[in-house]
Amino acid sequence: MSGGAGRYAPSPSSDLHLGNLRTAVVAYLAARGGGLAFRMRLEDLDERCRPHFAARQLDDLASLGMVWDGPVMRQSERLDVYEAAIRRLAGRGLTYECFCSRRDILEAPRAAHHPPGTYPGTCRDLGAAERRRLAAVKPPAIRLRAEVGRFAVTDRLAGRVDQPVDDFVLRRADGVVAYNLAVVVDDAAQGVTEVTRGDDLLASSGRQAYLAELLGLAPVLYSHVPLVYAASGRRLSKRDGALAGRALFDSQGGPAGVLALIARSLGLAAPAGGGAPAGPDSASAVRAPVEAGWDAASAVRDPAGAGWDAASAVRGGGRGIVEAKILMGELVARFDWERLEIGPWTA
Ligand SMILES: [Zn+2]
Repeated sequence: MSGGAGRYAPSPSSDLHLGNLRTAVVAYLAARGGGLAFRMRLEDLDERCRPHFAARQLDDLASLGMVWDGPVMRQSERLDVYEAAIRRLAGRGLTYECFCSRRDILEAPRAAHHPPGTYPGTCRDLGAAERRRLAAVKPPAIRLRAEVGRFAVTDRLAGRVDQPVDDFVLRRADGVVAYNLAVVVDDAAQGVTEVTRGDDLLASSGRQAYLAELLGLAPVLYSHVPLVYAASGRRLSKRDGALAGRALFDSQGGPAGVLALIARSLGLAAPAGGGAPAGPDSASAVRAPVEAGWDAASAVRDPAGAGWDAASAVRGGGRGIVEAKILMGELVARFDWERLEIGPWTA
């Protein structure tokens, strides 16, 4: 390994759906195919997160043949680390208290350089007396005092792009640490150098890259992957239960079928050695690497990382997992960003 790492960081508030799994597969292939370590992290700060979703998400990812390095990081166990980062910023005068409600922010007059959805800076310059008066009524959120309006990030798919930066929230009024802070602190702690994730997060990448710079952390290379859409045209969500969790795995005949479906959506279903592309029958995509001489025994000798219970991970029978591991190994071996067909996909 070259010292860098990729990662996947789901939020365990539901089962992973086909779009989540596709992004995870791209992240995994990019990391392993590029000789990087692969880290796993559960972004479980939100009150909607549940331990049983976390367990099932890790099962599903492991059953697709993913093996991660080191323990699974859980954000709920790292609150002191986030608070320390906020204190460092506060010590440099880079934070302030915000008493605005969501409605206050929506209705606030804003200058042309504050695009819709960004914070217009209402509480930036409150006097001490005013802050005390407001704090007696409600607890404040903590915002970053940003000194730039835009920040450039490098994205493998979008290129070098400027993204808006505003005085974004670091800690919500209810005490929950904001995603933008936790993700930056955690990626650095896990040695992550490449972030591959859904392109709904591209717009927040400038905020995160700027915060990383303020905290003295190295920039990451982003790859924001187009999302998966339902037949109705909207993007997949947790409401698409038939394309998530056990229902998805059952409908595809187990993990190998799910992985083959994802591989086909990425244009990666052609067997190694340049044979005919695999047809719609997922079994042919799975069989190809077997026939190419992949060693199934060695593929399953290496169990998933800490936190994975092999017995509970068997969805669709052990054979499905073995086949998924074989196919994943084959996909890693011939991964190449240039050959990836990674447009939006309607499942
Ligand atoms: Zn405010």
